[in-house]
Amino acid sequence: MTQGTPKLNAFPIFIRVEGAAVVIVGCGDEALAKARLLSQSSAKLRIVAAEPESALSEWIATNGAEHIDAAYAPDHLRGAVLAFAATGDEALDRRISEDARAAGIPVNAVDRPELCDFFTPAIVNRAPLAVAIGTEGAGPVLAQLVRARIDRLLSPSLGPLATLANSFREAAERLLPKGSPRRRFWSEFFNGAPARAMEAGDRAGASRAVSRLLSRSTDAQGHIALVGAGPGAEDLLTLRAQRLLMEADVIVHDALVPEEVVAMGRRDAERLPVGKRKGCHSKSQADINALLVRLGREGRRVVRLKSGDPLVFGRAGEEMAALRDAGISYEVVPGVTAAFAAAADFELPLTLRGVSSSMVFTTGHDLKGGTLPDWAKLAISGATVAVYMGRSVAADVASRLIEAGLSPDTAVAVVENASQAKRRRFHGTLADLPSLEARGDLTGPVMTVIGDAVAGANFEHSEPLAAHRQEAAIKLQGADA
Ligand code: SAH
Repeated sequence: MTQGTPKLNAFPIFIRVEGAAVVIVGCGDEALAKARLLSQSSAKLRIVAAEPESALSEWIATNGAEHIDAAYAPDHLRGAVLAFAATGDEALDRRISEDARAAGIPVNAVDRPELCDFFTPAIVNRAPLAVAIGTEGAGPVLAQLVRARIDRLLSPSLGPLATLANSFREAAERLLPKGSPRRRFWSEFFNGAPARAMEAGDRAGASRAVSRLLSRSTDAQGHIALVGAGPGAEDLLTLRAQRLLMEADVIVHDALVPEEVVAMGRRDAERLPVGKRKGCHSKSQADINALLVRLGREGRRVVRLKSGDPLVFGRAGEEMAALRDAGISYEVVPGVTAAFAAAADFELPLTLRGVSSSMVFTTGHDLKGGTLPDWAKLAISGATVAVYMGRSVAADVASRLIEAGLSPDTAVAVVENASQAKRRRFHGTLADLPSLEARGDLTGPVMTVIGDAVAGANFEHSEPLAAHRQEAAIKLQGADA
């Protein structure tokens, strides 16, 4: 999915076996295990076993597999689409594998990966739906564990639902235009009334629900979801955000949203980065508003993905106003804002009984002029202050707060790339804060939290800001000279 993901050495595919011969050679447990696995398919099993153990012969008898009661011969592989060597005898397994390969039949030899063209997965079977789990041999136990988890997750009614889907596929293709109307139909099919009816065991009701869906007006109505992507960790996305990303035709995202999160969207969704990264060309807010309106008018399902929460320093207000004016439907999906991610990274109580009972979200970019902004007054009365986009104004923030009466010893916590594996944490006091400005090593987004409640945080994993004070002073002097 992403650049750093290791490559699979075995690529999962589904092989057509309906009515085709699959050969299993072996007399014992291993052969029986493969027979059981393969009997979940409609393949014709041919079991070559001269002296089958009793469990295997019973299984053959009850399941009606073809039994070749003879020592293995290459001829037994004739016409097979897959072959399994499960004899327990290395030389024989090797021979079977070589014969199969010579005949162009993919082969699997139990517990002998070097003789295998393919591996068998653990299977969650909701035929026609199947989930196959592979570990490239790393852990059959792991595969079973994952299998059990997925099994719990998937309703047994998914199988009949998928069968029903097959029976409506042609009608859907005939009646619904390709693209978002069709996709929306299927999304409703699997999430809405048909799925619920099937879940309740009402096959006829499910069928009626599908017909209703099909006959409903198919006019494509555009819709924009302003979605909070959270602070960057993929698993801090909400389930709703994830669902909308899977349904979107277009994803319009800011530069701060990591590629991994954008990649959680539907693979063939159009992705439009709209910038706001230093040094990169980015669209103006007016351009972005116009873009969203245009996409809505085109009837597209758009996810406007913003870092953190869309309503916190996200300029969502302007986008919503533009959409409202244009009469385009929209919704807002909250996200984990950077201040909350930073607090979690520091185990920092943003409100603390007896210490801090209010909190401020600010940018620190409103400090110009002679008067203190209201939030500075709140800070002095004990609020915890979260400063967004505060790195370049760190010195201003510190000096103005100190001037206004906040102690230079007030605790400060700073985190770059909060919530992400590459995050860096720093702690210190208000007096140390100006050193942030001179630090060229902080290239990611930075969140600063100030207040007495911060003193209760866990600084075990953070570096003192003061370590950079000296450095910063020297650099600033250098810059003056
Ligand atoms: N809507 C976003 C804020 C956008 S403003 C939210 O709710 O979080 C951009 C600022 O957010 C950055 O300058 C930085 O101060 C902060 N920010 C966003 N993601 C961050 C992260 N992972 N770590 C630290 N700060 C972050």
